[in-house]
Amino acid sequence: MEITSKSVDKVFDYLVPKSLESLIKIGKRVTVPFGNRELVGFILEIKKVSDVDNLKEVKDVLDEEVILTKELLELGKYLKKTTLASLISCYQVMLPKGYKASIKNSVNKKYRKVYYLNNCDKKLTSKQQDVVALFTNKDKLTKEDLKNVSTFILNTLVKNNILRVCEEEIYRLDYDNIKKQKKELTSLQQECVANILNTEKTVSLLYGVTGSGKTEVYMELIAEYLKKGLKSIVLVPEISLTPQLIRRFEERFGSNIALLHSGLSDGEKYDEYRKIVRDEVDIVIGARSAVFAPLKNLGLIIIDECHSDSYKQDNNPRYNAKDVAIKRALDNKAKVVLGSATPMLEEYARGLKNVFNLVSLKKRVNGRKLPEVELIDMNKEIGKSKGHFSMPLIEEINKTIEREEQVILLLNRRGYSSFVTCSNCGETVKCPNCDITLTYHKSSNILRCHYCGYATKYDITCPMCHEKSLKDLGVGTEKIEEEIKEIFPNIKVLRMDVDTTSRKGAHKKIVDAFAKGDANILLGTQMVAKGLDFPNVTLVGVINADTSLMLPDFRSSERTFDLLSQVAGRAGRSEKKGKVMFQTFNPDNYAIKNAKDNDYMTFYKEEMKNRRLMKYPPYYYLVSLNVSSKDSKLALIESKKCEKICHKYLDKTIILGPSPASIFKKQNIYYYQLILKYQYQDNLYEVLEKLVAYYAAINKVNLEVDFNPIHL
Ligand code: ADP
Ligand code: ZN
Repeated sequence: MEITSKSVDKVFDYLVPKSLESLIKIGKRVTVPFGNRELVGFILEIKKVSDVDNLKEVKDVLDEEVILTKELLELGKYLKKTTLASLISCYQVMLPKGYKASIKNSVNKKYRKVYYLNNCDKKLTSKQQDVVALFTNKDKLTKEDLKNVSTFILNTLVKNNILRVCEEEIYRLDYDNIKKQKKELTSLQQECVANILNTEKTVSLLYGVTGSGKTEVYMELIAEYLKKGLKSIVLVPEISLTPQLIRRFEERFGSNIALLHSGLSDGEKYDEYRKIVRDEVDIVIGARSAVFAPLKNLGLIIIDECHSDSYKQDNNPRYNAKDVAIKRALDNKAKVVLGSATPMLEEYARGLKNVFNLVSLKKRVNGRKLPEVELIDMNKEIGKSKGHFSMPLIEEINKTIEREEQVILLLNRRGYSSFVTCSNCGETVKCPNCDITLTYHKSSNILRCHYCGYATKYDITCPMCHEKSLKDLGVGTEKIEEEIKEIFPNIKVLRMDVDTTSRKGAHKKIVDAFAKGDANILLGTQMVAKGLDFPNVTLVGVINADTSLMLPDFRSSERTFDLLSQVAGRAGRSEKKGKVMFQTFNPDNYAIKNAKDNDYMTFYKEEMKNRRLMKYPPYYYLVSLNVSSKDSKLALIESKKCEKICHKYLDKTIILGPSPASIFKKQNIYYYQLILKYQYQDNLYEVLEKLVAYYAAINKVNLEVDFNPIHL
């Protein structure tokens, strides 16, 4: 039931009144009285008798279709077991808003009026005959079809029983009739497809450089499964669910697709989900939670850009879509394909150990070359560069634009927010509720906390020393955009970041405009690094290649390598040759050097050495325990208690901490962290489950457990 209180994770019994008996089915939602409120819950079981006396009655059944299929019901229990989250949160996370158990649900089906022609032999006026003529070869007409007919005539026809009007349920998203087309696969792509179709292994890892045609391989695999009557799910990181990618799938499979991603309205998601529930589509494309799509006859789950952090949910239940995909594949005798140009170390290691079927696509389609990458040592550019642009990058941008080709510029924002500092006392302006610096948004002149949303007007008076000395020191995309306009006065720039893409459809507008050639430069954050395919882009520049190296996380080198490799892959994707420039203060760093050489293997080997030395994944598994409280002393005391218990019962586990979490204070709550490292610990879940249950009953302290955390 929709109770968020952490101490109530129970199943409740209710009586089914006679009138609802025929509608009650396991997996549907019902409204029930609870205390003095009314709540929504899922039907999990139907019993003949109950151990509970004085049962209250179910009030209403909300669904026509079963929402939680048998498979999802079981999957929810598996999620609970593996994440230690509450069962209700495991079910809620699987469903789009319109199908969640919630009394406040305001998502509704959409209807339209349609008109049918009745048989009749009445005498009609000539205008009425005109309307009837519109029905030739059509059994029904919409308001749109009848837009030239006056309302008066329509109403008269209905009143005289010549026309009949009905409300018809419709889907908000309908695909325009796109001409279907497919590409002939290259022989390398064909080999790949055959290999994956024939493997005995549940999971295949498709390691293919950027532009090697992985997406075409996915589509061919889906088509092969369709021939066998089996359905597919395609997972893509939110950020690469670009209009371009969706278009390619639509061109191949038309309206046989349901889309699930955050760019859709709640109503649209509700409708797309209904297409799945009603068995009307064979393919689901979406971000993380689409892995739960209740497709029948599931044959294939594809996870594109499988190295992406976005597959891990960072609140309860903290599941990883890859694990769920593998679980579903095993249960359904289906297959999983993980695809990436830069697989996570954990994934590639499993490929090398033959746990996964490793398939490689080492060349780009049609002999196209990977772009040449040049490192620009920014230490040597000090005093020569204009703003954040080195002379070599400026020259190359000018040349590219003279050839009437296009440029993508990446500002690596990870670990590099634009903060405000006082030049008098040196104080950085922080959020009053959280232990992090506020980010400056120039267009609205506001300082904002990206954790709790706290916002305040930017004022040059320092809140600490009260001197008028606050300065915006960090660099945001807005600042770089200004610099571009100064250095290249006659150039058109499009900016793509959180601010310019927050409105619905804004992302697509920017992509379309750039594809049409409306701008010379596309400037953006991580968003420009993934999934985009512009044939006319021949130069990619990275303003600051190394900022993400500085983050205190054991994956920071891997993330830097991934990002640089991905963004480099945006250049030279057509016949035209591409060039890439990384501006860096660390030209000798192995993540940057290997990204420059596009040398995944060398990076992999080097990084594996570090991981072994430091006892990190894939050599060790990690669990992070977060103990939090409004009272910082209490949080510390309780985290020490957790440490003692772990020491006592987890004999083969290394325990680090407790130490203040990387963000110590969030929304006035203090966080301490314990890290567990283990290779084999059979009672791990058992011990942690007890610990979670213990803290669930305590109000002032919270314990969160994160298995295989993606951020430390
Ligand atoms: P990846 O997903 O590996 O980055 P894509 O599937 O996006 O690669 O392919 C890169 C480019 O090559 C795209 O423009 C795509 O349309 C084109 N392409 C892929 N396969 C073929 C093929 N068999 N024939 C012609 N063009 C192809
Ligand atoms: Zn805050």
